[in-house]
Amino acid sequence: MARKKIIAGNWKMNMTPTEAKALVETLAPLVQNPDVDVVYCVPAIDIVPVVEAVKGSNVEVGAENLYIEDKGAFTGEISANMLVDAGVKYVIIGHSERRQYFGETDEFLNKKVLKALEKGLTPILCCGETLEQREAGVTLDWINLQIKSDLQGVTAEQAASIVIAYEPIWAIGTGKTATSDQAQEVCGAIRKTIAEIYDADTAEKIRIQYGGSMNAGNCKELLAKPDIDGGLIGGAALKPDFGQIVNYDK
Ligand code: PEP
Repeated sequence: MARKKIIAGNWKMNMTPTEAKALVETLAPLVQNPDVDVVYCVPAIDIVPVVEAVKGSNVEVGAENLYIEDKGAFTGEISANMLVDAGVKYVIIGHSERRQYFGETDEFLNKKVLKALEKGLTPILCCGETLEQREAGVTLDWINLQIKSDLQGVTAEQAASIVIAYEPIWAIGTGKTATSDQAQEVCGAIRKTIAEIYDADTAEKIRIQYGGSMNAGNCKELLAKPDIDGGLIGGAALKPDFGQIVNYDK
C-alpha cells in the first residue's frame, strides 16, 4: 500500500496568537489536497487558537515539544495530556535546535517518544547530521545511532505509526537544500534501519520526511523520491508557498 505523503510546518518561535489565526486563514484555501496529510506544528501559546481555527478543515495541529512527566512541579513545561486535551495530534521530538540549544540527548528524547506514544500523540522524530559529520563520511552511522537510541522500547506497531524527519543540520534555515539524491540516500538508509530493528512490514509503513530549506521550487523533485514521504518545513511554512508544497503533485 502506498504511503500517504505528510507535509508538516514547523513554525518554530514565530507567530503571536493573532498572527497565527491570520496565517491559518490565509493558508486555508491553499492547503487542500486529499492525497496529503497537512500538519501545523505551532508554538505552545498558539495551540488553542490554531486548533480552533482549523476546525472542520483537513489540517491537524502538532506541538513543537512536550515534557516526559504527566504533571507536577516542572515550571514552564507542557505535558502530553495537556496537548491531547487541547486537540493536538502530532509532536516534533528531537529537532536539532532542541538538541543544540537545550541540550536534549537521545536518552531524553527516547523518553519523550515513549511518552508521546503512550498518550496517543504521533511523534515527528527528527534526526540529522552536521556538515562536519557529512564531510567526515559518518552521516549514515550517526543517523543509524540516533534512530536506534530514540526508538528504544518502541514496539513495531508503534514504530509503524510514527513519522521520522531527516533534517541535515547544515540545510536547516540556510537556504542550502540536500540534493534529492542525498536526501533519498539517507531516507532509504533510515528505512533499512527500521527494517533491521523491526521488520520489512514496519519499514514499509513508516513515513519519512525530508526537512531543510524545502520550498515551492525544490519540493517536487524531493517528494518524487521513493523513500521521501513528505516534508518538515520551517521558513516556507509561514508563507503562501506552503500551499504550493502541499500541492506539489498538481
Ligand atoms: C526545520 O526547522 O525543521 C526546517 C526544515 O527549517 P527550514 O525549512 O527553514 O530549513
